[in-house]
Amino acid sequence: MSEVFMADAILKELSIKESPLTKVDELLKRIGIDEIVEKGDMVAIKMHLGSKGGFRIVRPPFIRKVVEAVKEVGGKPFVTDTCRPPSLDYLEIANMQGINYLSVGAPVIIADGIKGEDYRLIKVNGLVLKEVKVASAIADADAMIVVTHAKGHRMASYGGALKNLGMGCVCSSEKKLIHSVLGGGIPEWHPERCELCGNCVSSCDHGAVRIEEGRVIIDEDKCVRCYRCVWTCPTRALSWPKRGIDKFLMALVDAAAAVISTFEKGKIGYLNFVMDVTFACDCTPWSTIPIVPDQGILASRDIVAIEKASLDLINEAQGIPGQAGPGGRIRVMNKGENKFMRIYGIDPYLQVKYAEQLRLGSSEYRLVRI
Ligand code: SF4
Ligand code: SF4
Repeated sequence: MSEVFMADAILKELSIKESPLTKVDELLKRIGIDEIVEKGDMVAIKMHLGSKGGFRIVRPPFIRKVVEAVKEVGGKPFVTDTCRPPSLDYLEIANMQGINYLSVGAPVIIADGIKGEDYRLIKVNGLVLKEVKVASAIADADAMIVVTHAKGHRMASYGGALKNLGMGCVCSSEKKLIHSVLGGGIPEWHPERCELCGNCVSSCDHGAVRIEEGRVIIDEDKCVRCYRCVWTCPTRALSWPKRGIDKFLMALVDAAAAVISTFEKGKIGYLNFVMDVTFACDCTPWSTIPIVPDQGILASRDIVAIEKASLDLINEAQGIPGQAGPGGRIRVMNKGENKFMRIYGIDPYLQVKYAEQLRLGSSEYRLVRI
């Protein structure tokens, strides 16, 4: 049984020592940061750097705490993510979100290079994939602290640490492949609902959408299947392609396994922020209110255990009234509900199941509140 440590968002007393921010240090000590990071190690601090309109990524002070903890044990940290928009644009977004050298105390770099195609080809005996293009700066790092904002996701149902690795640590063409393994392709356009407003064109970071002679045209080669345009279409004139979700989730977990395999055993630590748990992911060009109250920060050396514990906490919590799903369809969810299952119709625990099948960890865990 694996241990998952937790700094509760509800403070026992109103003091600095009880603040979850203060407790990041203790959480990292509990999972043995001095074993994960050795003196001189280059340490990737993997996070999601956000999007143009969103604002609920893990906040800069928490990242700074992780950077300081890595430095304290002799590591050389860098904060990183892979190209979503192309690298230079993405660094501008990171800066706008408050993630830069001055705020976090470490260089912020894009792990798959300026065009998203710097990678190492890694063999994996996965459920679907046999090789994965892992971003070079991740594959070359000596150790990694995976900092994850736990939230929902339109295709994966849940976006946690597995997704942070499986999608967030691979290069652009691999992202596209994993999305297309889902059986779908580019978004589908429904002309009868289209008002030619152009939102889809301006929301696409990859220049894949154009309007020509009254038609919305999506360039299949440029489209990375991020589906931002689907989210931003005001009239639902764009929709997700029909898909075989199981294969997509398997590919996602396979890719996470490939990323993990580039590190020696015991060189990765995980922090899951079960805070600001929105129904949609950090790629969307907006952020909504959370669907449950903040639970706290979880830490573990076991990715399966921490994912299971995060989902269990979300599901055991009473929902917050407001906006708990696309289109205002769901207003509030109750204690005990499998919330992402209700929102997306996809069981979020499938990721946990596949990761356990690949022996990435154990779903049996003991939650230790610090
Ligand atoms: S955002 Fe929707 S309505 Fe506007 S042009 Fe694109 S498809 Fe048409
Ligand atoms: S899914 Fe839409 S927004 Fe994303 S790359 Fe393709 S066309 Fe652009």
